[in-house]
Parts: sequence; C-alpha cells; structure tokens
Amino acid sequence: MSYDDNNIFAKILRGEIPCKKIYEDEYVLSFHDVNPQKKIHVLVISKGKYIDLDDFSSNASNDEIVGLIKGINKVAKKLGVSSDTGQGYRTIANISTFGGQEVPHLHFHLLSGENVGKMTQ
Ligand code: AMP
Repeated sequence: MSYDDNNIFAKILRGEIPCKKIYEDEYVLSFHDVNPQKKIHVLVISKGKYIDLDDFSSNASNDEIVGLIKGINKVAKKLGVSSDTGQGYRTIANISTFGGQEVPHLHFHLLSGENVGKMTQ
C-alpha cells in the first residue's frame, strides 16, 4: 500500500481543511479530534508522509522519530496533563485493519482530562 495524498490529514497538513491546532513544529502537527472520545482527545500527526507506525519505524529518519516522540511530550505539557502534573494521559496508535485505523496517515491519539478507563473495550 502506498501513501494516499488525498487522506484527510494530508489535506489538513496542506491547509486545505481547517483544524483546531494545539501545537506545530518541524516534525509534528497536533489538533483536536473532531469526534472526541474523552474530555481531552487530540491527535499528534507526523509532518512526513507515513501511513502508520510500521511505515514510520521502517522509513523515517532518526530525527523524525525523535521529533514525533518529543512532540507528544510537548503537546501533553501544553495541555497540562504530562506526568509531572500528576494527571497523565493515554496514547494510542491504531495500525491497519485489525488496529482499526481509519485515516492512513501516522497519528497518535492523546486521551486525558478524566480517567480514560480500561485499555480495550
Ligand atoms: P484512526 O481510527 O486511528 O485512524 O482515527 C482517526 C481519527 O481522526 C478519528 O478519531 C476521527 O474522529 C479523527 N478525524 C477524522 N477527520 C478529522 C478531522 N477533519 N479533524 C480532526 N479529527 C478528525
């Protein structure tokens, strides 16, 4: 499967579709999920064109990988839920069919603002 330039997050990255932006740097863009599952539900997406975490791990540069992981931490800090606040959060990366991935552009969900409950339903 090759990367689909018409996926909705690619359109957001190109500025063709608006988003409620939280944070942006060279490696990541973060914005509120349009259909929040918890009080805080945001997405952290790679700036690079990667389909999922496997594609990213196999093909991204070390700088991109570090930039994404640090980006999640920066977003958590900006939202005031990083572990040093005593709150915390859950990140989820859905991957391909069994993972239930809907948008084929690498993204992490960040869920918080309340106890997010059991890990799987
Ligand atoms: P996934 O199933 O991991 O691919 O999750 C895709 C997520 O993207 C879902 O939680 C959707 O609610 C969210 N989503 C889809 N379109 C948009 C959009 N235009 N802006 C923000 N979030 C979106």
